[in-house]
Amino acid sequence: MEDILLLKLGEIVLKGLNRRSFEMKLISNISRRLRHYGKFRVYCVQSTIYVEPEEPGCDMDGAEAAVQTVFGIATISRAAACEKDKDAIFRTAKEYLKDAFSTARSFKVESKRSDKRFPMTSIQLSQYVGGLLAEEFPDVRVDVHTPELTVNIEVRDYAAYVHGPAIPGAGGMPVGSNGRAVSLLSGGIDSPVSTYMIAKRGVAIIPVHFFSFPYTSELAKEKVLDLAKILAKYCGRLMVEVVPFTHIQEEIREKCPEEYFTIIMRRFMMRISDRIAKANGAGALVTGENLGQVASQTMEAMAVTGQCTSLPVLRPLIGMDKEEIVRYARKIGTFDTSILPYEDCCTVFTPKHPRTKPSLKEVEEAESVLDIDGLVNEAYDGIERIKVNI
Ligand code: ATP
Ligand code: MG
Repeated sequence: MEDILLLKLGEIVLKGLNRRSFEMKLISNISRRLRHYGKFRVYCVQSTIYVEPEEPGCDMDGAEAAVQTVFGIATISRAAACEKDKDAIFRTAKEYLKDAFSTARSFKVESKRSDKRFPMTSIQLSQYVGGLLAEEFPDVRVDVHTPELTVNIEVRDYAAYVHGPAIPGAGGMPVGSNGRAVSLLSGGIDSPVSTYMIAKRGVAIIPVHFFSFPYTSELAKEKVLDLAKILAKYCGRLMVEVVPFTHIQEEIREKCPEEYFTIIMRRFMMRISDRIAKANGAGALVTGENLGQVASQTMEAMAVTGQCTSLPVLRPLIGMDKEEIVRYARKIGTFDTSILPYEDCCTVFTPKHPRTKPSLKEVEEAESVLDIDGLVNEAYDGIERIKVNI
């Protein structure tokens, strides 16, 4: 007999008519995440998703850790399996929840019975097991209204299950339930966090990286792929689009005034990302921009770069402090990789005195010497697509 996992749905409970398709999406995302840990049956009954092992020897610890990164799940409970017998259920509750009983001051037992052949009603079973637990833990009083600890019992087809307090899930909405977006992924701290935040809202992600070999090394590309691998835990399998950016940067450096280097370069990033988005049916671009952090992230600069795409540009970090962004990066596990010291293409050609408040007119004039369409086409045609899985 094996343990099972009970997953409570997050926000998707609110989704009315779409709810069934949200649930199906979530079930398929969970199933895909579990395939390394054995064979599981995953299904939904009354806002709870059940993850049941279908063969002996499934890795339940691995499965429990894996579902913690799946968006759309509010809470996770690991339930201990036992024989469908009232005394076996009591013994399991006593053993499995002894730590919880050592800290709680009050408890109640709640039972559910999907196997109606079980010889007791849910209330009788709760009373029986509750009575024995009260004797076993005399310092913890019974409180059926606001208990500190709820002992949950489920009598199901093949076994009975006991579980206590739940742990938090990743929250958000199932990836793929809310459209698709292109996320501009550099090797820095910010853009992995912005990617995570938009994926959390149920958006499937297409990461795009602008790569300036040999100004930035193969290692810089590897670093971005490593970040994508970490993000794949949350986003599912990713196809990273690596855009050759060297020629564009050399052209800008050679032909445009230095103070506009960064903003013109960022306009190219937007044009190419826009094109990738449209080719893939994506409805938005995502960046890790943050108001006032650097010269290219003023309102004026964002107006000038945003003008190169007709899609909404989502900037989930716009109002955050660096400290908050770093806290997120640590939480999602990208920080240590992000701080590895490989150059990003932005830093290679940074002007000494960038324009912080450029107007569209002066930037358009500065870039008018370039063959913009030709450069965009050349970069787009040279894209390398790399599959990244966890
Ligand atoms: P990050 O920490 O994400 O690199 P940053 O604070 O260094 O951000 P910039 O370098 O100005 O900021 O870049 C702003 C945003 O532009 C990034 O968050 C990212 O979304 C995008 N970006 C920058 N460089 C690249 C790149 N080489 N490839 C893809 N996107 C990039
Ligand atoms: Mg950067």
